[in-house]
Amino acid sequence: MQLLSMSPASSSAEANGTLKKGLHQDGRRMTPQRRLVLDLFEQIGSGSHLSAEEVHRQLVDQQSKVSLATIYRTLRLLVEMDFLQELELRDGGSRFELADAEHIHHHHLVCVRCGRTEEFESEAVLQAGRDACAQFDFELIDSSLNVRGICAACR
Ligand SMILES: [Zn+2]
Ligand SMILES: [Zn+2]
Repeated sequence: MQLLSMSPASSSAEANGTLKKGLHQDGRRMTPQRRLVLDLFEQIGSGSHLSAEEVHRQLVDQQSKVSLATIYRTLRLLVEMDFLQELELRDGGSRFELADAEHIHHHHLVCVRCGRTEEFESEAVLQAGRDACAQFDFELIDSSLNVRGICAACR
């Protein structure tokens, strides 16, 4: 089990300065393509974690003609618009899930072989985030813990 990150989920949107601003604002429009991707997440419900490839496969199965590149871009924008939460895996992949207010304080256990993702709650993790913020005088946005492991089926 290894610690992956304990960072605010939404830091990337603000980090790129003014150059990106126009794009960012343009990105806030809900186009049919974005609606389609969001609908998919709403159909499967909160607590499901999909990679871009899985989103693409499901939309193609539903007869949508959409490229994987468009899916990547759309997922990224939906994260910036706070509709989705991104779960970054250290091995380069990302998974996405609905950003649901009641479901925001949870942590993830990820199998590094098959990508199986389980959620857990931990008051101790939330408290560690609060303590660290207090210590360094930060305002807390969110703290999450990603734990990597190998699931029973993959051993
Ligand atoms: Zn989750
Ligand atoms: Zn596994």
